[in-house]
Amino acid sequence: MEKAKVSELFSSIQGEGLYVGRKEIFIRFSGCNLRCVFCDVNKKGGKFYTGRELVEKVHPHTNTFGMGAKWLTLTGGEPLLWCDFLKEFLPLLKDRELKIVLETNGTMPEKFRNIKDLVDIVALDFKLPSSTQEKPFWSQHRQFLNLAKDKSFVKVVITAKTISGDLKKAIKIISEINQEIPLVLQPVTPHKKFKAAPPIEKVLKFQQQALKFLTDVRVIPQVHKFLKLK
Ligand code: SF4
Repeated sequence: MEKAKVSELFSSIQGEGLYVGRKEIFIRFSGCNLRCVFCDVNKKGGKFYTGRELVEKVHPHTNTFGMGAKWLTLTGGEPLLWCDFLKEFLPLLKDRELKIVLETNGTMPEKFRNIKDLVDIVALDFKLPSSTQEKPFWSQHRQFLNLAKDKSFVKVVITAKTISGDLKKAIKIISEINQEIPLVLQPVTPHKKFKAAPPIEKVLKFQQQALKFLTDVRVIPQVHKFLKLK
């Protein structure tokens, strides 16, 4: 059986994006193919698990859901680095009637293709180069959203350096695929190593810009950080 390196497994509320506040289990995978300048995730460390070992670790958390659907978020790092593992692991979660959210940086559509039918919701980050200070990934983001268009919302992180030209490119990709796909504008949360938060006026202006082309554009900060939760 394939193994994957996992740095954290915990339950909490979803702290960002369209489903903020929902009770979920989180599996944080180690490693990432990007180096976003605002990243606050510890991408090293962790322990290797097979799918069967990890599903047993998940099990105790599922008892706390009550009547509602049981949601589990795959996050990172970048979970798709462990695509071969996920192909074996996700069916085991489905056997436990868990619904799966994939949080991804949207740069590896070819890997996503292998597991797309096993995922219920995709929280798809578009990495704006002026925000991340990384190279652009427009073509990968377009391919990814095309594959995931029926179950995705797109998220972009806004910093003091984000330029409207980058947002324009993201809006164009989304609107050409389906203008009803929700877009979340997430003002970056400042932390020790990154302090360049955007003024709120800038974020609201971006929302106005996006609403000319898309039907659902929301400004949602990272709520778990305010609440001092994981
Ligand atoms: S994609 Fe996510 S985990 Fe990877 S460097 Fe960027 S913010 Fe960090």
